[in-house]
Amino acid sequence: MHLIELLTLRSKPAGGLYFLLTRRCPLLCDHCSTNSTLTSEEAAEDEILRFVNTLTPTSRPDIIFLSGGEPLLRPRLVRQIIEKSHACGARVVMITGMFFARQEKIPRLIEEVLNETDHLMTSLDIFHERQVPRVDVLRVLRTLVDNGKDVSIQIAGWNEHDPYLPEVISSVREHLGDRVPMLVETIKYLGRARQMETSHQFKPANSLPTTEASPCVMISWPVVTWDGTITACCNEDVVDGIHAPHLRLGHIVTEDWQTIRDRHLQTSLYRALRTFGPLYLNQQYGSGKVACEGYCQTCRKLPDDPVITQRIEEIMARPSTGYLERQLTMLQEQRHAAYSDIAAYAHLVKLGYKEQEIASL
Ligand code: SF4
Repeated sequence: MHLIELLTLRSKPAGGLYFLLTRRCPLLCDHCSTNSTLTSEEAAEDEILRFVNTLTPTSRPDIIFLSGGEPLLRPRLVRQIIEKSHACGARVVMITGMFFARQEKIPRLIEEVLNETDHLMTSLDIFHERQVPRVDVLRVLRTLVDNGKDVSIQIAGWNEHDPYLPEVISSVREHLGDRVPMLVETIKYLGRARQMETSHQFKPANSLPTTEASPCVMISWPVVTWDGTITACCNEDVVDGIHAPHLRLGHIVTEDWQTIRDRHLQTSLYRALRTFGPLYLNQQYGSGKVACEGYCQTCRKLPDDPVITQRIEEIMARPSTGYLERQLTMLQEQRHAAYSDIAAYAHLVKLGYKEQEIASL
């Protein structure tokens, strides 16, 4: 599966499921968005498998996206999830920091699991390179690509003018040819990266306050968080447990996939956030009780205004709104397939892509 197919499906509500298998990670990158350490938390294996075993061939996401922390700290669990997902017809994408690339020989179980995933992502940026040398990451990727594995690289720099970006991109193309797509992004002000807020280099992405419709793209796939809570959006603060009960879908010990999927697709507030975004909802349908204090801050307060809740139910029940939702999803699929928050590098997501690969979409 090519990166473009993954990015396209990212806009399909409940088309995928993010699974944060562990918050633990053996790397200690300064910019880690999840604040991971080797002793961070993780849900119990039997709880995770209980939920995974509720997937069926007729009720499953298209993609299970395994992340962490470092999912390959639990390779046996990863293998069981892959087996179950494949048996149901779902594909598995995994992102890894490649801690194992620092040693000459990859442990056998990890090597097998790498080969069993449908798409493998890894990261290159100045912080990862301090933990795992670039030459080691490229060596492992080279072997995987030579064996026909679909891989991609998330590359991050301070901003579009960061000289690191053209240098690392040229290095990847030199070692791997044009077979490996790259998603080039700016470093985000999250997790441990918050400590770098005052750095003169650090330019966090703007979140412009706007009261025009600005659909939330983060509420597309449900997320199983490190403690087994399932959230409707993948915003790091929400995943990290900030108070937002209206965005909680359930827990892996009590719910099954079908229940989570139905809630995610049918809850009027989630549909409205996907279609209009929180600022527009507050301005158009609110009573004035909730102040517009920023995109996600406003979202977290929407339930404080019962007028909004009632109006959203009415608006989302209209057939015309359903039509609008479907059109918007199609537009977002096209846009996300060619997305990079640094436009000059957007074309790199297409490297190695063959048209016929997504003919079935
Ligand atoms: S607007 Fe709401 S749903 Fe969207 S990312 Fe922010 S908190 Fe999550």
